[in-house]
Amino acid sequence: MDSLWIDLNKNKQDFKKLEENLETDVCIIGAGIFGLTCAYYLSKLGFKVIVLEKYKIGEKTTGHTTAKITSQHGLFYDYLTSSYGKKFAYDYLQANEQAIKNIEEIIAKEKINCDFEKQNNYVYTTKKEDLKSIKKEIKAVQNLGFNCEFVTKTGLPFEIEGAICFKNQAQFHPLKYLYGLCNSIISNGGQIYTDTTVIDSKQEFNSCLTFTQDNYIKSKYTIIASHYPFVNFPGFYFLKMYQSTSYVIAVDTKKTLFNGMYINSSQPIFSYRKVKFGKKELLLIGGGDHKTGQPTSYKDSYGILEEQAKKYYPDSEVLFKWNTRDCIPLDKIPYIGYYSSTMNNIFVGTGFKKWGMTSSNVAANIIVDKICGKANPFSYVFDSTRLKPIKNRDELKNVIIQSTNSLLINKLKRPNMNFDEIENDSGSIIEVNNEKVGIYKDNNGKIYAVKPICTHLGCLLSWNDVDKTWDCPCHGSRFNYRGENIYDPAYRNLEVYNLD
Ligand SMILES: Cc1cc2nc3c(=O)[nH]c(=O)nc-3n(C[C@H](O)[C@H](O)[C@H](O)COP(=O)(O)OP(=O)(O)OC[C@H]3O[C@@H](n4cnc5c(N)ncnc54)[C@H](O)[C@@H]3O)c2cc1C
Repeated sequence: MDSLWIDLNKNKQDFKKLEENLETDVCIIGAGIFGLTCAYYLSKLGFKVIVLEKYKIGEKTTGHTTAKITSQHGLFYDYLTSSYGKKFAYDYLQANEQAIKNIEEIIAKEKINCDFEKQNNYVYTTKKEDLKSIKKEIKAVQNLGFNCEFVTKTGLPFEIEGAICFKNQAQFHPLKYLYGLCNSIISNGGQIYTDTTVIDSKQEFNSCLTFTQDNYIKSKYTIIASHYPFVNFPGFYFLKMYQSTSYVIAVDTKKTLFNGMYINSSQPIFSYRKVKFGKKELLLIGGGDHKTGQPTSYKDSYGILEEQAKKYYPDSEVLFKWNTRDCIPLDKIPYIGYYSSTMNNIFVGTGFKKWGMTSSNVAANIIVDKICGKANPFSYVFDSTRLKPIKNRDELKNVIIQSTNSLLINKLKRPNMNFDEIENDSGSIIEVNNEKVGIYKDNNGKIYAVKPICTHLGCLLSWNDVDKTWDCPCHGSRFNYRGENIYDPAYRNLEVYNLD
């Protein structure tokens, strides 16, 4: 099912596929919130920009977000202060607070009608044992000179133990915002191409070449805004991040909905905000987080969200449900800046760890300043070429174990299912003549067979029974049961076995 944002805006903006070789100042790969924000700022400054998008405008991660615009990224500032020091934490907070103001300014200047409204944001807990970490976080935030509040009463339909409130945060409709950016980019002379997959991008001396299947763009600068960077070497982003999936439902209820945007402080994560839907308001409930590629069930994904809805709004009806994933850096800080220390004309912004509404604006400003040769006070915080030791050792260990399993160990293991055991509308890996084959049987028993090896870096894929997809447990690429690539960083389809 499409997200509510996509459903409400179907067929809104139509661009053509790239069918010629072109030259420009800046080539931007990806038309999500990050790529389009870069294109907006650069085109406004008089740069010639070309945006290349594999699918449609904003229909990947940005089109499936919950679109809370906040500098409160969970419980984060105590971690930042204790790991990197007070100035670092202060600059992270300032950069994200500035981003909220920038987004509001763009919306006002360009007259973008995108349901932008100011809201307070809350990180709450219903568990007594979590109050200690809430109090520590408040101390850390106040220590940075930021005015946050401890509250025990909120609009939520259940009691809490306590919450941290950040005032003057915001929410909007992310696709209406992106369409507004597109209009400005086009009127500033920029060009946007959709249905155009980039397969490589390289820097040669002082210019860049970006290749699609049939054409190329020559540019002075390139920005890789493809969410998960698809150029593996140099950069090595696949060693520094993993992807995490979350689920969202939009429910209709006759009860009056509450103001504010909410997320709880510990697992299992639940997130809430209301959203305009025609003349009424719906409640968005998010959660069910897991590492992309790890098996889940309906009960543990949409099921737990539906349970929450029924518990507090017995009359509620689910009108939309969707999921998407985001890149999580092992040290929890986005990667923004040069693609690698050997590429100073190619830029990247990634690893927004489910807080990409503000992070994408921070990233766009840092990169635009780099292109203009201007110093940016926040760029050191997000330096994409950093070589600091990873502070988050548990995450590092998990990623290494998962990648070793999927690249080597699981490929040697015999699958524990045989062909006859696979039920209709389900899939599994089986072994045929010592080769692993991914099988999906549809509702009528029709069989679809693929080689279950990711076309990104060769990891063994796993079956996702909620979405009926093949997912990569190492880097989060996804393919539908026909083997067609639906999520980056892979861009090639799977090898398909013809059973006719
Ligand atoms: C469930 C969920 C809820 C979230 N809620 C919030 C929230 O409330 N607040 C918040 O701040 N953040 C939130 N986030 C995070 C936020 O949505 C993301 O960080 C942000 O949308 C990422 O934007 P992007 O432009 O980097 O990526 P995308 O929107 O994915 O854009 C990248 C684009 O690049 C294109 N592309 C990829 N490869 C190629 C290629 N080879 N050639 C051409 N084009 C290519 C893709 O098709 C895509 O359109 C949430 C994330 C999730 C998973």
